[in-house]
Amino acid sequence: MGKYFAVAIDGPAAAGKSTVAKRVAQALGALYLDTGAMYRAVGLYMLRHGVALDDIEGIKKHAAEARVDVKYVEGTQRVLLCGEDVSQAIRENAVSAAASAVSAVPAVRELLVARQREIAEGNVVVMDGRDIGTKVLPDAPVKVFLTASAEVRARRRFEELQSKGQDVPYEQLLEEIRQRDHNDATRAASPMVRAEDAALLDSSDLTVDQVVEAIVAMARAKKEAAR
Ligand code: C5P
Repeated sequence: MGKYFAVAIDGPAAAGKSTVAKRVAQALGALYLDTGAMYRAVGLYMLRHGVALDDIEGIKKHAAEARVDVKYVEGTQRVLLCGEDVSQAIRENAVSAAASAVSAVPAVRELLVARQREIAEGNVVVMDGRDIGTKVLPDAPVKVFLTASAEVRARRRFEELQSKGQDVPYEQLLEEIRQRDHNDATRAASPMVRAEDAALLDSSDLTVDQVVEAIVAMARAKKEAAR
């Protein structure tokens, strides 16, 4: 890959990555890429086309048809699936499990990782996901592994869904988060692991502001040192 400056933020589901990453990108004047949204779009495609989530061959077969694009409208990321803006639809709770299932299929990862690297090329980016520091942008100068306890994450997801009028019980969300953690950490293809050189940030007892400040400070220090 050519030159880029990236802040890679990885970590488990609902750790607050996208809230934090968006704000870090704003502070640095960088492009923000939520890679989970891309896996969600592929998951949505499979749901819409009746491909069973345990049908690995079916997912593989349909992966290339699920054309995922990203565009920016007034600085906000929109995700397109075969030309349709699905930014809202991919936030339905059912799509989370579909994204987790398709993300274990290497053919899906290859397509999306290539696209993610293209977006980073020549840019200053803040990218969040599960494998950004380990696989997508292993040379990223700033790497963070952002986590929080499963209970804190389930509580945050519960409140987020409630605010959108989606009534999903807390216990169900906690179970789903544990299931996704397990899937993401144990899959053979690019499992979610903390990169050796990633800073570990546990946000359980931190405010969003504190997490953002810590990451922005790391990024500024790296940029300064590189000048
Ligand atoms: O971040 P978000 O929860 O929206 O991601 C949805 C799913 O996509 C995750 O559970 C994970 O399985 C998958 N994912 C991934 N690699 C990434 C980003 C997301 O495998 N870089």
